Amino acid sequence: MAKYNITADSRDLLAKVSDVSTDTEYFSPIPNGYKKGQTRYVIVMGTVMSGLGKGIFASSMAKLMQDKGLRVAPIKLEGYLNIDSGTLNPFRHGEVFVLDDGMECDMDLGTYERMLDKDLSSANFSTSGQIYSSVLRKERHGDYLGRDVQMIPHVTGEVKLKLRRLAMASEADIVFVEIGGTAGDLENAFYIEAMRELAYEEGPGSCCFVGLTYILEPQALGEQKSKAAQLGIKQLMQMGIQPDIVACRASNPVSEQARQKISVFSNVPYERVFSMHDCPSIYTVPAMLRDCGIDFEVIRLLGIEDRIDLRAERRAWAKWSDFTDKIESEKREVTIGITGKYTSVRDSYASIINALEHAGILLGTKVKIKWIETTEIAADNADELLADVDGIIVPGGFGTRGTEGKIACVKYARENDLPYLGICLGFQTAVIEFARNVCGMKDANSTEVDPECKQGVIDILPEQKKIEGLGGNMRLGGRDIKIKKDTKAWELFNKAESARMRFRHRYEVDPEYIDTFEDKGMVFSGKAPNQPIMQILEIPSHPFFMATQAHPELTSRPIRSQPFFAGLVAAAGRKRYPTENLPQFLDAAREICFR
Ligand code: GLN
Repeated sequence: MAKYNITADSRDLLAKVSDVSTDTEYFSPIPNGYKKGQTRYVIVMGTVMSGLGKGIFASSMAKLMQDKGLRVAPIKLEGYLNIDSGTLNPFRHGEVFVLDDGMECDMDLGTYERMLDKDLSSANFSTSGQIYSSVLRKERHGDYLGRDVQMIPHVTGEVKLKLRRLAMASEADIVFVEIGGTAGDLENAFYIEAMRELAYEEGPGSCCFVGLTYILEPQALGEQKSKAAQLGIKQLMQMGIQPDIVACRASNPVSEQARQKISVFSNVPYERVFSMHDCPSIYTVPAMLRDCGIDFEVIRLLGIEDRIDLRAERRAWAKWSDFTDKIESEKREVTIGITGKYTSVRDSYASIINALEHAGILLGTKVKIKWIETTEIAADNADELLADVDGIIVPGGFGTRGTEGKIACVKYARENDLPYLGICLGFQTAVIEFARNVCGMKDANSTEVDPECKQGVIDILPEQKKIEGLGGNMRLGGRDIKIKKDTKAWELFNKAESARMRFRHRYEVDPEYIDTFEDKGMVFSGKAPNQPIMQILEIPSHPFFMATQAHPELTSRPIRSQPFFAGLVAAAGRKRYPTENLPQFLDAAREICFR
């Protein structure tokens, strides 16, 4: 289990509500000072199948509410027993998203942070593992006063407690609860039961239930079929949940007839059964919801018309529309190659894809991605594989597979002026390549790949080795980076002295070799403020060769692109269109990242 720290801020907020009274017959622990009915809850559940985009719906709706001046706090409830997502294989479950406080969580938290342009914390994420472990801890501590500990009310009580604590700590008008998986899964059933209880306890008008469903359109029939959706919603009703809103996912706009059928079978008024069909970018989903008026349906259902600020909404919407209007109207196109182990599943690189999309939209450049399977790269075919890309990213990763292929890509990029962005493992790969091919250190490697190597330029540092036995040796979460003056990084970050990014790594550059690298022309332009940990590197003589030990993709936001991605896309544009005199990458980054 990886450790995570709660930031001072969220610790204060959570401490405020840590006193809990449990002296009711029903055992529904309510934080002291909690006012029922103050915070409203929007609860989003999936039917028919998973992967429908509950997070996209919930975050889009939360954005529309935030735009109206309401305070919103999202929470994702995962069914799995892992305490966090740190140990999950991205190939099976999508990328591991890291929050500023070091929580390793589901990739949906990334969607919320991007849509809401807000940093979240461990209070916004829970797993069954967290809920159960808290119940078991309390049981050992004797907190249940002689009662037998049961799924209902104790486990469901723990879920409600978590939500109410979040409501208090965030002072939210609306808490958005997204339940992972699909209604009918055994592992999520207690969450749904907890929501039924919550709605009853909080009182009428306090909760709005949204059932996300899927409308089939079999090719052989050529028409939309709503039966699976009806059955899925029935399943929710059997669990005591009457949806207030049904969101119909589908490839094409959902027909009137299908919506009418769903309305009849699920007791949901027709105007609250709406189509959420596929669209060119997830960033156009808020507009889709707004166009069918579903945001105001939610406001009316929750009875909070008096809390909204329509002027604030007009301003926020104008800003957002400026961004979305640029989608699909890009004038240029670049291709960025991404190397990596999990290339067959795009969810494993969701944040990188998003970060490229943000930079591309803001720079009027469509970014195409070419996935490069590194195990297919040999020393002599990198030029073939990379001939048609305008820039390359070597992303984060663990283990040894494909390392030599990645090193071959870095060599090609460095020698051929191909814009390069190295992320975490891609930073380490850049160091190894430079050590081998520029500094003549033939045996250079990372001790993660070859524990016995003679020149371990990437290694676990002594102070970290000491804590290895304690199981907390991953460096996780947001950290400040001190930026060296008059470097590309310094320019890229608008001449700031420091920048904050998120980390998730165990290995780093062995400081013993730094002088050798700097003598040969590599500059370490970002370092940890008080430790010799190298965090950004660049090669000044190359048009764009930059890498960071951090994960810049995690903090890129739609209307505020992350400078590394803005820089890469701009540099790739200049390479692809040499005669057009496009803005230098530094100017482009300044313009779209620091407006
Ligand atoms: N495996 C490397 C390390 O542990 C890189 C980690 C990463 O890319 N997230 O340091």
